[in-house]
Amino acid sequence: MEIACLDLEGVLIPEVWINFAEKTGIEELKATTRDIPDYDVLMKQRLRILDQHGYGLNDIQAVISELQPMDGAREFLDWLRERFQVVILSDTFYEFGMPFMRQLGYPTLLCHKLEVDGGGKVVDYKLRQANPKRQAVIGFHSMYYRTIATGDSYNDTTMLAEANAGILFKAPPNVIEEFPQYPAVDTYEDLKKEFIKASERNLTL
Ligand SMILES: [Mg+2]
Repeated sequence: MEIACLDLEGVLIPEVWINFAEKTGIEELKATTRDIPDYDVLMKQRLRILDQHGYGLNDIQAVISELQPMDGAREFLDWLRERFQVVILSDTFYEFGMPFMRQLGYPTLLCHKLEVDGGGKVVDYKLRQANPKRQAVIGFHSMYYRTIATGDSYNDTTMLAEANAGILFKAPPNVIEEFPQYPAVDTYEDLKKEFIKASERNLTL
C-alpha cells in the first residue's frame, strides 16, 4: 500500500502568512520557509511582528475566512484519494488549517497548534514534533507503507528525501535548482502524472 503525503500551503491552499501580510501591509510577514529555511526562526519572527502590531488570532482568522483553496485543488485531492491513502503533512496550525479542510472535504491533516491567551494574542506555538514531515514518512515506512510526497518548499525537502518518491510542485527556481533530483511540475494535471509514474516505480521496489 502507498500513502500520498501532501504539503498544504503552496500545494492546495495559498500561503496564509503572505495573504495576511498583504492584507495588513506588513512586508516582513511575507517571509516563508522559502526565504527562511529554519522554521523556528521564522515563527519567532512572525510572533514578534504580530505582537508589535497588536494583531491576534482573530485578525488572522478573519483573513483566512476570505481565502479559498487553489483552483483545482479539491478536484486534484479527490482524484488522489480515489487512488491513494492521503495525508496532509503541514507546518501550519490547526487554527489556520481547519477552515480550508472544510472546503477540501476534511482530509487527514497533521500539523501544529498555536497557543493563544484569553485576549486572543498568539503567545506561542507547539510543534507536533521536530522534523514532523520527515518523521511522519518514517512512521509510515515502519508500518510497511510506501510513500510518495509532494511539496513546494524547503520545509518539504527532508520529507521528499525520506519518501520512496518525491515531487516538487509549484516550487520556486532556487528550490528546483538546489534539489534537481526531484521532478518539478506546476499543474495538477502534471502532478497526477508524476504520482502515477512514482507509483509504478514503487511497484518495482
Ligand atoms: Mg508549502
